[in-house]
Amino acid sequence: MIGVNAKEYGEMSEDMFLLKDIDRESIKMSNSKKILQCLYQENQLTKQEISKALGLSIPTVTHNVNTLIDEGYIAQAGVATSTGGRKPAVLQFLPDAKYSIGIDVTSHGYDMVLTNLKSEIKATKQVDFHYKNMNAFITHVREEMHAMLKEHAIAVEHVLGVGFSLRGTVNKEHRIFEVAPNTDIKSIDFNQYEAILETKIYIENEANAAAIAENALGIAKQMRNLVYLSINEGVGTGIVIRGYLYRGKNHRAGEFGHMMVNPHGPSCTCGNKGCLETYVSTKALEKACHDAYGIAISVDELFQRFQLKEPEAVRIVEQLIQYLAIGIKNIVNGLDPHYIVIGGSLSLYGDYFMSQLKEQVYNNNIFYKPSDHKIMLSSLKEKSSVLGAALLPLQELLYGSEKVI
Ligand SMILES: [Zn+2]
Repeated sequence: MIGVNAKEYGEMSEDMFLLKDIDRESIKMSNSKKILQCLYQENQLTKQEISKALGLSIPTVTHNVNTLIDEGYIAQAGVATSTGGRKPAVLQFLPDAKYSIGIDVTSHGYDMVLTNLKSEIKATKQVDFHYKNMNAFITHVREEMHAMLKEHAIAVEHVLGVGFSLRGTVNKEHRIFEVAPNTDIKSIDFNQYEAILETKIYIENEANAAAIAENALGIAKQMRNLVYLSINEGVGTGIVIRGYLYRGKNHRAGEFGHMMVNPHGPSCTCGNKGCLETYVSTKALEKACHDAYGIAISVDELFQRFQLKEPEAVRIVEQLIQYLAIGIKNIVNGLDPHYIVIGGSLSLYGDYFMSQLKEQVYNNNIFYKPSDHKIMLSSLKEKSSVLGAALLPLQELLYGSEKVI
């Protein structure tokens, strides 16, 4: 390789390898997981149907099915009608075999959800908690988690794991919360908390967790390419390509909140000026309200005033729409996804701005027309991040290797 640094070449070939692995089918997966996935999707199947669907021999199916029965994930549920000969036994997926806990860490505490293996919500709790340090936080989570499990008569051994959705840079593989903007959180190693919580821990960036949930459970369930915009106090983005989360080489892809939409705009926490976040985050809207009215006004009140056509409120919301449209136009021009999904707390007010927003994205757009993409509000609303967190342990159970490129 003349002129190519060996290290660079190594990195390049690794990326090429990952690209080849984009198809789920090509990811090496155990037969046991393939069978569990089949039953998870179809609920009930016979061994013969599994054998046919996966191209596995009956003895291989039988061996793995027996293990899954022993582990409690599936059970025999009667017999199917026979086309002749012995009636085949029907196997059934058991959604309540195990449970998952999702925790979305916010600036004012955390949201917690308990789901079964089909992501059906068994319990939720919103906890206001200002923690001084991570140890205090985890101890608090442990108490709340055990109280929730006790209330639903679930033993901790039946918990598959706890998934955390975190606002900041996350190294999922090494389970390190690297940086959280606007806080002094740096390099928090979540491995140390497993012993405290007595169950496996998974961590994920908040917008990525929301994108996972939207792709698996929400409005974009059938679509393979989507960009999820999580608009809260900050703006995070999750990118899903062909059903896989796109993470990028340094695992930081999707920082569209820090895409510059006006080089002369307000200063951003990242050190630049005029990032999308400085115009469309709920924090930015509250600041704009304070600048306009001289008093603290919530986002909820802003939209109430907008509805009453108060000039300042109209100006602030129109500015929000203008910059959100610029941001979405840039994303669409770069990625051309099937879906742009807007979630987070701003999505609760989507009815006030969605039609105008869509209009502006396609105004003077020589590349695309409105029917080319679907720009929509999250169907999971503010629950998408916490449900995405609860999906993390389940993803490992069903897919083994994470669905990431
Ligand atoms: Zn920024």
